[in-house]
Amino acid sequence: MERYIPDYDVAIIGSGPAGCACALALHNSGLRVALIDKEKFPRDKICGDAIPGQTLKAIDRINPEWGKSLRGFSERAEINSSKIFAPNGKAITLKWKMQAYNSKRINFDNFLINLIRNETSTIILENKRLNQVAIENERVICTFQDGEMLNSGIIIGCDGANSVVARQLGGNMPSKGDSSAAVRAYYSGVYGIKPGINEFHLFKELPGYFWIFPLDNGMANVGFGISGNNSQKNGDAVNLRNNLNKIITDYPGISDRFKGAKLLGDTKGFGLPVWKNKTPLSGNRYMLCGDAASLIDPLQGHGIDKAVWSGLFAAEQAVKCFKTNNFSSLQMSEYDKNLYKKIGFELARSSFILKLMTRFPRLINSFARLDTNLKLINWMARKLKI
Ligand SMILES: Cc1cc2nc3c(=O)[nH]c(=O)nc-3n(C[C@H](O)[C@H](O)[C@H](O)COP(=O)(O)OP(=O)(O)OC[C@H]3O[C@@H](n4cnc5c(N)ncnc54)[C@H](O)[C@@H]3O)c2cc1C
Repeated sequence: MERYIPDYDVAIIGSGPAGCACALALHNSGLRVALIDKEKFPRDKICGDAIPGQTLKAIDRINPEWGKSLRGFSERAEINSSKIFAPNGKAITLKWKMQAYNSKRINFDNFLINLIRNETSTIILENKRLNQVAIENERVICTFQDGEMLNSGIIIGCDGANSVVARQLGGNMPSKGDSSAAVRAYYSGVYGIKPGINEFHLFKELPGYFWIFPLDNGMANVGFGISGNNSQKNGDAVNLRNNLNKIITDYPGISDRFKGAKLLGDTKGFGLPVWKNKTPLSGNRYMLCGDAASLIDPLQGHGIDKAVWSGLFAAEQAVKCFKTNNFSSLQMSEYDKNLYKKIGFELARSSFILKLMTRFPRLINSFARLDTNLKLINWMARKLKI
């Protein structure tokens, strides 16, 4: 016997930054919204925990008061710049204009979902894993692992890197080996951490990048990631965990800093569906956001800001669809257009720089020697019409 949860106008699958932003942006819409996640919150998400400034700007746009509370919440370490150490040891410093901070995702995501709990009439369903989704007779039908089903007018896939919605409706998943991946660990007592600075280190001997991001309470998020291009170049997937341990225990200039440090918990890894090119993000009665739409910046690995902006634009599009009673692919493609207008240039620029660096790996040393800044990179990208 099929058991139906009452109907909703909008079903948002996934309560990460994309899903939460979408639910927040729908708060005054008058639509019946369900926000559904397979986990119970607070839940951890493997991440570098760097919350880009654009994330806060997007929440400001939804509601300045909520933006203010997100800017001020306690479990964070403010960040004003990133320092990229090239293989030759020289560093490029990128100074952030906007407020940005690092915050463990278990706290950051929980803050967002609590905002939804306290400030909106969204129905939050936890411990509910979506197994199947189909579009029939002008409605979306979701079937969950527990056997329950749900009808909605629209589905918004915010269900992350292994998105069921993208696989079953969008056919938009990056092929295996094409995606980037990274591992992260929490440490306390890392020597030489400069408050306000996120460090990236690139090595001659190793493809990929190593990071140290300061957190509150003297902790740090430490990780190692590799782009899809590099993992393909090296045949078998590089063993990320081993590489991270090797850097921490052996690498000159780094290992000394970890002599008195303590590993807190396990080292964990996850995929980063980075952006490759403009693919459709929507179709009849559905939209994809955040990692489900492969929107991670291929150069910086930032995905939280893209997730939040895409959630916001998807919410705006959902409102238009109900106003016009039009849920066609053509109507939905307005979402793609608006979102690419906002983040398309940045994604294309990062993709270009990554390709350049993969083809000419020594370029990063030259950039570092010149202490190249974002202004120059932007100028080059515009000249090359990226
Ligand atoms: C190691 C690593 C480091 C990173 N570092 C950074 C960083 O420092 N800064 C940055 O900006 N980005 C970083 N990223 C990328 C960032 O984590 C993602 O881009 C971001 O979390 C995307 O948000 P999202 O809401 O789209 O997806 P997620 O945050 O992944 O949320 C998806 C949600 O969907 C739920 N879900 C999944 N499947 C189902 C299902 N079948 N049914 C119901 N619910 C489901 C999950 O439980 C989850 O809560 C990193 C990623 C990795 C792997």
